[in-house]
This record gives sequence, C-alpha cells and structure tokens, in this order.
Amino acid sequence: MKTSKCRCGNRIYFNNSVCVGCQSVLGRCTSCGSLASFQGEAEQLSCDRCGSVAHRCLNQSYGVCNSFNSSAGSLCHWCEFTTVIPDLSAPEAQPRWAALETAKRQLLVQLQHLGMPPFVGNLQETHPLRFEFLEDRIDSDGKVHQAFTGHEDGVVVINMVEADSVQRESLRVRLGEPQRTLIGHLRHEIGHYIDWSFASRVALKDYHDLFGDPFAVDYEQAMQNHYANGAPADWATSFVSQYATMHPWEDFAETVNVYLDIMAIASTANDQGRANFDLSPQADVGGLVREVLKIVIEASEYNFDLGLQPLLPEKLPKAVLTKLNYVHALRSKELSPEIASSHAV
Ligand SMILES: [Zn+2]
Ligand SMILES: [Zn+2]
Ligand SMILES: [Zn+2]
Ligand SMILES: [Zn+2]
Repeated sequence: MKTSKCRCGNRIYFNNSVCVGCQSVLGRCTSCGSLASFQGEAEQLSCDRCGSVAHRCLNQSYGVCNSFNSSAGSLCHWCEFTTVIPDLSAPEAQPRWAALETAKRQLLVQLQHLGMPPFVGNLQETHPLRFEFLEDRIDSDGKVHQAFTGHEDGVVVINMVEADSVQRESLRVRLGEPQRTLIGHLRHEIGHYIDWSFASRVALKDYHDLFGDPFAVDYEQAMQNHYANGAPADWATSFVSQYATMHPWEDFAETVNVYLDIMAIASTANDQGRANFDLSPQADVGGLVREVLKIVIEASEYNFDLGLQPLLPEKLPKAVLTKLNYVHALRSKELSPEIASSHAV
C-alpha cells in the first residue's frame, strides 16, 4: 500500500490518525486522494499536500475511518459506499465494522489508483457499487437467518463474522481456502461486481472463450457438484484456485482477486523503493507477474520462518496468466457511448 510523508518527514501509513513524531493530525484527504498531515485548530483544518479545507468524516467518531472531506458534517467518499452497518449495541460490532471499513477502503483506494470499476466513466451512476455489512439474524421463533457473503446487482454483502479472525480461521481450514482474508474476500466479491458492471458488457466474447459462458452452467448445480466432488485433480494446470473450478463466475472473480493481490504487492514494492514496476494498463502483465512472484517467494520464506501462510501460490500456469491478461486488458477498455448509457436492469 502506498505510504506518504508527514510534514515532519515521518512516514504516514494507511490507518494512521496521529503522527508519533510531531503529533500532527493524519489521515486521507478526499480532495487530493493522498495520505496527508493536516494543520490548524479543531474544525479549521487544511491538508498539507493540497491546501484544501478538511473536515473529519462523520465515521471518525466511531473509530472506523481516518478520512477528511471538503464539506462539514458528511461521510467521506469511501464511507458512502457502505449502506448497511451492524447494530453497534453489541460489544464486538465496532471492532468488526472497523476492520471491514479498513479493508473496504484499502480495496477502493486500489481500484481508484488502477482506474478499475467502479471508477470508470459513469459506472457508479448506471451500475452503483454498494456494501452491506450484515449479521446472522435470529427471529422471534429462534430461527437463524444467515447472512451470506456475496455479490448481487452491485451490492456486496459481507457477513460480519468474516471480520472475526477466530471464525474466519476455522472457515479457512474447513473450506481449504489458504488465502481467506478480509481483503481477499473483498477482492473476490469486487470481481463479481466488475464482471456484472463492466467485463460482460465490454469484452464478452473473450470472457466466454477463457472462462466459459456463465449462463450455460447452472450455478446451483455447479455448487452442489463442487462441494460433493471437489475440484478436478488437474485443477492447478488451468485455475488459480480450487474454488475457481466451480463456475465461470467464480473463475473470473478468483482471477480478479489474484490480479489485485499482484498489483498490490507491486505497488508496495514501488513504494518501499525495492522496485520500479510499470503498473499502467500498458504494462506487460506476464513480465510483471514473473517479477512479483520473486518477491512472493522471498516474503513467503519470511512467513515460513514465523509459521505463517505463504503469500500467494508461487507459480502460476500459462492458462492463468492468459486469464490475468484478460483482467489487465479490461483497464484499456472504454465504455462506448451506447454501452455507457445503458443502466442496470
Ligand atoms: Zn509528523
Ligand atoms: Zn489534500
Ligand atoms: Zn469515512
Ligand atoms: Zn464468488
């Protein structure tokens, strides 16, 4: 993740709100998009990077955001994407919500940086992206209504339990998903959003050639098959994960997840001065993946030293590279005026 500098020279990290060096107020300025230090008194702050007037996002009072807006008394650009938050009367709700908002902001900042949906043309008007952070609900008869993590028509639902590291770890082991993390979930679900809002509208033929026609495979049936029989033995030759084998939609979402993982590592390597990767839409994605996998192997060795999981699979087969290249090429696609004007139905 891209870092920044406080006016005193200290580095500012993603979630910082106060500089440990000079006690300046820190956060993300929505006017210039940067992490920045802010100067002035209580309600008279201004951004050190762009000079804009800066008001605290309303969610700062809940400890779930560190952003600043140009207008007073409002939510920041990032927090506005969330339309349903948990019931905050439960003691565990606030830290879970904070973890989800952090991961969501991390995702959105990356998508904006890369110029990917929903930050393409007028997509947020025609195919709005929204997040709902839900909990399982028990009705008066004691019946449990489970909240399912997933995407439908622009709404990404995350079950709050995913923000609980103990619960998530038990699911990670049970479902055999080594990279089950909050940011991983969000990168997967945004893959479904990108599919629905953009890929299926601008590059459908290549999508069908690479991932298959999603409407030719019954989803419920595919899911039952997957949980009954598991992935084919040779899955690793053409898929990025076992789950990707289940259905074309899941294959695409898993590919987007890995693409965003790779771009995140490349961006951090640039920020830390270890590399100078070209992350533009024109970059050669094959060469980029090769170089990033060298970093992955090194970092996974450090993780192994501490008994942690590998960062990512350390090899990606040719078929997966072709799919990653498809996702990368989406960044050069534009919405034609005709497509841009069509709203979701
Ligand atoms: Zn400072
Ligand atoms: Zn600014
Ligand atoms: Zn906010
Ligand atoms: Zn999915």
